[in-house]
Amino acid sequence: MRYTSTRGDQTQRRFCEILLEGLAPDGGLYLPVHYPQVDAATLARWRELSYADLAFEILSLYIDDIPAEDLRAIVRRTYTVEVFGSEQITPLTWLKPGLGLLGLSNGPTLAFKDMAMQLLGQLFEYELARRGQTLNILGATSGDTGSAAEYAMRGKQGVNVFMLSPHGRMSPFQQAQMFSLQDANIHNIAIEGVFDDCQDIVKAVSNDLAFKQRYRIGTVNSINWARLLAQVVYYFAGYFQATSANGQKVSFTVPSGNFGNVCAGHVARMMGLPIAQLVVATNENDVLDEFFRTGVYRPRASAQTHETSSPSMDISKASNFERFVFDLLGRDGQRVRAMFGAALTEQGQFVLSAAEHARIAEFGFASGASNHAARVATIQATHAAHGVVVDPHTADGLAVAKAHTHAATPMLVLETALPAKFAATIVEALGQQPPRPAHLQGIEALPKRVCVMRPDVAAVQDYIARLV
Ligand SMILES: *Cc1c(COP(=O)(O)O)cnc(C)c1O
Repeated sequence: MRYTSTRGDQTQRRFCEILLEGLAPDGGLYLPVHYPQVDAATLARWRELSYADLAFEILSLYIDDIPAEDLRAIVRRTYTVEVFGSEQITPLTWLKPGLGLLGLSNGPTLAFKDMAMQLLGQLFEYELARRGQTLNILGATSGDTGSAAEYAMRGKQGVNVFMLSPHGRMSPFQQAQMFSLQDANIHNIAIEGVFDDCQDIVKAVSNDLAFKQRYRIGTVNSINWARLLAQVVYYFAGYFQATSANGQKVSFTVPSGNFGNVCAGHVARMMGLPIAQLVVATNENDVLDEFFRTGVYRPRASAQTHETSSPSMDISKASNFERFVFDLLGRDGQRVRAMFGAALTEQGQFVLSAAEHARIAEFGFASGASNHAARVATIQATHAAHGVVVDPHTADGLAVAKAHTHAATPMLVLETALPAKFAATIVEALGQQPPRPAHLQGIEALPKRVCVMRPDVAAVQDYIARLV
């Protein structure tokens, strides 16, 4: 398989080349030159596999520069009962007939990002050792990416992590998870700004090609293709758990921020997985909902990004969205370049034609927005009716899914975090603390390692240069 940029650069790369990089040189995102097609016989065979072996089958279609036996060993090391808590790895819970929760948050940091990041840690270690190289990972997080990356990379040979987060905006639990890590290769940088400021710094540093090369900068943001690919696997795993025979259709509702998670669903659907709808659920930051409903893409500046009680979705410029637009517009890289090339600075707005907007439904996409009141009411209702405590992001998914559920098609809502990460909203909704795994009791009291900085690209570059 070869990979190409969404912005028209025709250079084709292989998986391990793009594994350690972020954006393509022209500023676009990498996508495979085509989506491998999965037929009914293959689906029937995959239905019988363990999660790790299913992951191997799917990854093999996209990775041809890692020997098969090595790749199989990597996925078997990654997706274990010890790390993810169950044989299914992503267990499905039916709340009622036709409405399921796909549990993606049973990894070390209690959010779905572990699903991809744990694999990325193994892939990075493997590839860096093979090349005899080192890598400095620069990332931006609104909470969950950072901890997932740090827990996947801590103590790994040849890897440093520099993780930017918006100062004071993560939950106390999330801050404790990240800042309490004492590993010498983990560096926390709290930026005085919002998540989009952090992301813009990462993009600016990654676009400084001389700096990027000299300091061997890599990224683990959701624009990383390997992360997206890892997430494709659980759409298949969820489908197999929800159905008894292939051919039956299933829909997914996906609490969305950077559009990485639901973009993986898009890839699964393009491969031929029988997905009826992919419902994009946003919070009050509803740029994507507006786009899917109206065809108008109107990204907001960071000053207009609302701080909400589902903070991992407080994103107004979804970094993976460009991948979907590329497919929607028939892979016209020149057009994508015109649409997104200027968006990095400010307010790149575009409007789809009526015909283009109509194609959104052909791609299975629908959307809805949630808000604080709906989130809290959904946490309460889900607890009252089913005895299940869901986190605020998952609650946004459940709230939006309601309007998109059809009797004939099961709806699976992706559970993107455990409630323990977002205690304040759970206490507000239920008047009680969320359950917390025993090994995470008291982490807020641990000593913290973090450096607070202004949103300044040069200052972040200096900091990296001094430490590596
Ligand atoms: C990251 C995250 C999201 C958003 O996922 P994207 O892939 O960025 O769309 C939703 N919920 C939680 C809990 C997250 O950590």
